[in-house]
This record gives sequence, C-alpha cells and structure tokens, in this order.
Amino acid sequence: MLKADRYRHFVDYFSKNQPNPVTELHYGNPFELLVAVILSAQCTDKRINQVTPKLFERFPTPEALAASTPEEVFTYIRSVSYPNNKAKHLVGMGKMLVEVFNSEVPSGIDNLQKMPGVGRKTANVIASVIFEEPAMAVDTHVFRVANRIGLTNNATTPLAVEKQLTQHIPKEYIGVAHHWLILHGRYICVARNPKCEICPLTWFCRYYERNNTETALLKAEAAKVKKAKEAKKKTALNKISKELKKRSAGNSEE
Ligand code: SF4
Repeated sequence: MLKADRYRHFVDYFSKNQPNPVTELHYGNPFELLVAVILSAQCTDKRINQVTPKLFERFPTPEALAASTPEEVFTYIRSVSYPNNKAKHLVGMGKMLVEVFNSEVPSGIDNLQKMPGVGRKTANVIASVIFEEPAMAVDTHVFRVANRIGLTNNATTPLAVEKQLTQHIPKEYIGVAHHWLILHGRYICVARNPKCEICPLTWFCRYYERNNTETALLKAEAAKVKKAKEAKKKTALNKISKELKKRSAGNSEE
C-alpha cells in the first residue's frame, strides 16, 4: 500500500470515529496546561492529574510559582518522575513568564522553548492545544504508532517523525492527529504487545501487514518441511517393505 493511501485511511478513520479528541491532562487555563505538560515528561497523565489539584491550588498563577522555591514545589510533586529537576524547571518557568512574557503563556514554538523545562514536544503541545497551531508534538506513543502504521519511513528521531507527519497530514488535522496517535498508542497499539486483534486499523497498518505475511510464510515453510519429512519416511518404509518381500521370496525358493 502506498504511504499516501495509509495517510488517507488514517485521517478518514479517525476524523469519522474520533472527531474531537482531547488531552487527558486536567487543566483550567494555559498556565495550568503548561505546568501539567512540563510535569508529564516521562510520567503518566494519570499520575500528573493526581498531583496537580493541590499544586494549582497553592500556585494558581505564574507569580505564585515565581515567588516560591524548588524545595517547596518539590513537596507537591515528589511522586512524579524526576521531581527535583521538574521543581527547578517550574520555578524557572514561573519567573520567566513573569519577567519576560508579562505573566502570559506566549505563543510560538521559539518563545515557548525559551522557558526552562520546555522542549520541542511541550512547546508543540501548547502551540497546538492552546493556540490551535498546526503543531505535532511527538512523544513515545506518537513515535511508535506512526512508525508501526507506516506513516513514517526511516524516521529515527522525534524531529524526523514530526516533519514527516506535518508534511503529509492535512493542516486542519495536525493538532487532532497528535491526540489520535497518543490515545491509540496508550490503549491499543501499546509498546510491548500491540492489541492488533481488537485494532480497527489492521487493513492499512504496515506492521500488521508485515507481521501477518511473515507468519503466513513461516507456516507455509513449516508445512513444506513436514511434508518433506513425511515423504522421506514413506520412501524409507517402502524400501524396507520391498527388502523384506525380497528376502521372504528368496527364503521360499530355498
Ligand atoms: S494493527 Fe497492531 S500494530 Fe497496527 S496500529 Fe493496530 S495495534 Fe498497532
């Protein structure tokens, strides 16, 4: 199947079946989403949603965060991954929002990436969710699922995946496609054992196609070997039987 066809089927399927996907992180405004996304690196949304209610209550604004210390922030986020670094990033991010961006979450990937703790993935999430820009954030799910389906070719870095996806997905769907890929990767196309048996994308998924072709070839090969063994066994038995007949004929002549 051509790559262009896989893209067409991908967008067709999800735009019909999941037209309005949203992030599973809980937030009430752009500042809270930025905090939640920074915290979510290498951590689950579920875990982040457990810590953010108290965190947002104590630090409802960039000013509150800027006036705090990493040590205090740490006490609210100790159960997430890399809490020390993230506490430092959050305080640094709060200060920059206050001092440079007038306490507003800025638009634009470049501005967003100036803040501590904000890499390209986080910047793309904010640009896409808050500012509705056609930005594709590539996390581990997006990376894996895009590759398995066959939306990307030889893309070995998140940036390469981002470029290929944004090049082929129609602009108006780039933002939602990010959620489609994440949610599909989180619940069906999981890392270790993708649940292909319940996946609705098998008919255009490259991984499924290859896997099943390989399985079919292996089965055919095993059947061939079995048949050859049986034929060999039959030939050997025939030979023995002929030999026995010959001997018995010889005995009766004597
Ligand atoms: S068919 Fe399997 S590998 Fe392909 S997208 Fe679905 S779950 Fe993932």
